[in-house]
Amino acid sequence: MNATDTPVTIIGLGLMGQALAGAFLKAGHPTTVWNRTPTKADGLVAAGARLAPTAGDALRAGPLAVICLTDYDAVYDLLGAHEADLDGTTLVNLTSGSSAQAREAARWAEQRGARYLDGAIMAVPPAIGTAEAVILHSGPHPHFEAHEPALAALGTVTHLGTDPGLASLYDVAGLAMMWSVLNAWLQGTAMLRTAGVDAATYAQFARRIAAGVAEWLPGYAEQIDAGSYPAEVSALETDARAMAHLVEESEALGVNAELPRLIKALADRSIAAGHGKEQYPVLIAQFTTPAAT
Ligand code: NAP
Repeated sequence: MNATDTPVTIIGLGLMGQALAGAFLKAGHPTTVWNRTPTKADGLVAAGARLAPTAGDALRAGPLAVICLTDYDAVYDLLGAHEADLDGTTLVNLTSGSSAQAREAARWAEQRGARYLDGAIMAVPPAIGTAEAVILHSGPHPHFEAHEPALAALGTVTHLGTDPGLASLYDVAGLAMMWSVLNAWLQGTAMLRTAGVDAATYAQFARRIAAGVAEWLPGYAEQIDAGSYPAEVSALETDARAMAHLVEESEALGVNAELPRLIKALADRSIAAGHGKEQYPVLIAQFTTPAAT
């Protein structure tokens, strides 16, 4: 059997599930689909998918079933209510949720005989089926290895480790990065607009800064992993003086200064704890515990 002969099942045909099923069909997989509202399968059936009469029937249609519903409660509602037979099925749950939910779902599914992988989709539906769609998986590696050729029809697929919670954790870590970069860019845009610089002009400058900072990450990560923060480039107390300029400038311009103040408050706490002469990544300690209240 070659990669595209593997029968696949998709349960959940919302915007994302339809895209997943469409990508499997396009890659040539015999594709069985099921959705609570069956009419959402019409386009896929016209394209060659088989609509299963029940979710249980869909799960029994082949060795690999992908489920993509609104949330984990919906997954339990569906699979739990019908006490679905998961024995021998590799169940890949691409529903978004927390790492704790993923670990719990892994236990739940394994108790019912499934080979369970949790996953996170870092893409929008139109990107599914292209290399641009990053889809993260975690759980026992042999389950991933057995179905990697079929899963690759969905995008760039990665296995992160055996802990089923890892895909969700990477997902939210990526969101933290994305929103932090976007908020920083919006802060700068708000400041520059007071001087008549439009967002498009600043975006060209900002993307170079973002790309430059991204290059620092591996070296800074080495310091964090070693737990040692010699100031090779700049000391935190030097950075804190620049942060004060950012706060003062934001306040003087009359733009929102909440983000600059937060940035400075984190550094100030670290300096107060005696880390002013160390390098920026020493701030990891400010992130590994809940904020001081
Ligand atoms: P959606 O369009 O709202 O579809 C939700 C799906 O869940 C539908 O198939 C719906 O069935 C089904 N569902 C909800 N509750 C159910 C229940 N109790 N029993 C059975 N089926 C139930 O959402 P989506 O955009 O496809 O998103 C699905 C998952 O992918 C979410 O976890 C989302 O976070 C994740 N995701 C989405 C995107 C995106 O850009 N769309 C990107 C990354 C990740 P009905 O059709 O019958 O209502």
